Amino acid sequence: MEDNIKLDYEPKNGWNCLDAKSLSELESLCEDYKKFLDMAKTEREATNVLVDRAKKSGFCDIEEYTSKNIKALPGTKLYAVNRDKSCAFIVIGKNDPVLGMNMIGAHIDAPRLDLKPRPLYEDSGYALAKTHYYGGIKKYQWVATPLALHGVVIFEGGKKLNVCVGEDESDPVLYITDLLPHLAQDQMVKNGYSLINAEQLNITLGSRPGSDAVEAQENQECEQCCETEKKDNVDRSVKKAILKILNEKYGIKESDFFRAEFEIVPAAKAKDVGLDRSLIGAYGQDDRVCAYTAFMALTDLKEIPEKTTVVYLSDKEEIGSVGSTGARSCWLENICLEIVSNYNKDNGMLELRRAMQRTRFLSADVSAAFDPNFPEVSEKLNVANAGNGISFNKYTGSHGKSGASDASPEFISFVIDALEKESIPWQLTEMGKVDIGGGGTIAQFMADLGMDVLDCGVPVLSMHSPFEVTSKADVYWTYRAYIAFICA
Ligand code: MN
Ligand code: MN
Repeated sequence: MEDNIKLDYEPKNGWNCLDAKSLSELESLCEDYKKFLDMAKTEREATNVLVDRAKKSGFCDIEEYTSKNIKALPGTKLYAVNRDKSCAFIVIGKNDPVLGMNMIGAHIDAPRLDLKPRPLYEDSGYALAKTHYYGGIKKYQWVATPLALHGVVIFEGGKKLNVCVGEDESDPVLYITDLLPHLAQDQMVKNGYSLINAEQLNITLGSRPGSDAVEAQENQECEQCCETEKKDNVDRSVKKAILKILNEKYGIKESDFFRAEFEIVPAAKAKDVGLDRSLIGAYGQDDRVCAYTAFMALTDLKEIPEKTTVVYLSDKEEIGSVGSTGARSCWLENICLEIVSNYNKDNGMLELRRAMQRTRFLSADVSAAFDPNFPEVSEKLNVANAGNGISFNKYTGSHGKSGASDASPEFISFVIDALEKESIPWQLTEMGKVDIGGGGTIAQFMADLGMDVLDCGVPVLSMHSPFEVTSKADVYWTYRAYIAFICA
């Protein structure tokens, strides 16, 4: 009897699905992906890098078309930027956009440490900077590891300066200290949550006392108050010495920190992982792996798609998709309204609503890969395996699918058909055992607009850590899956 019961589905290993041509495509795609990861560690950098690339492959600013009322013909390639932190890339299709569009949405923000508005202080001979973490991190993973500072300062009058320290080979790196095991008796019995607390995530900026002569007037005051530090007429403040470096190099003064947005990210570069180089390790692959593969799928399109196609890259996903650059804002809707009314100037909100209702949206975000070191959190039948291709999550959320956009079988079936036609390996999974945790994506906010939405993306090991790991096979097949979806 048992012989008659055959499962007609077994997950395929993505490596076994490669021929010589696709293997060589995989190699060059993954080399380029690693370069992208190194150039785009923040949402602003990702926006910059991708807009630059888009321009080089013929994309034009949508404002050129909207401000001058130029009709975008089928095949027109457009980009739109939201406050330098979120963006969309559009290829106008052959059909009326009101009949529905194809969209892929990923996010380009990643968990990190942000400098507080007033970060600088001096303590025990060190200049330090206070941070406030962004997104879901295990705080203990951010100590005793090289860090880099990326950010932007908006000077009085609006002049903008990009700052990046710790990425160039010749740059110094930044650092947060941890306690030596010899003295960590009390620390080691704490739980993971409080092993390092948030107010201990203070960045070491320097330790060298200043050597500037104290101004004459200041010197007098010092003599009056008998400050021993300044007796030799030299200001030994480490913090002031650091500020001097910042001022000489970037023109930044202490009050400019109020006008800045500084992000602390791991300084490590993307690397192949494993003796067989089958994996990629890097910071911020959640969710730049989906942002990159979706962007590449769109820009590598050889023919004009039937439907207008949009790749939307959002910010603030890691803190709930809030704010004017997050997926809950109406920015993407506004862009869609521009597309719909560009097609026909009489089109308005009703036509936009119709377009949204008929739009197919892949919520491209990473999934948790099965980890043999932690098998207890996964349920084997429904877990994503690194190497088995793009992973679809019918739903995300937690504790009874709360916060999930539960995709319809009609839409899932449509997507599976598109992938099967191209022999692309895929897996239908969920993240972890029921009631053990969970997570959300931008899917629910897109579903709110009336679209068909399905979560999908690359399985990741050590997600949200300073060095996340993906399989090259999954990076490649996810890219191919997005092409298949766009062309379906
Ligand atoms: Mn994500
Ligand atoms: Mn995440």
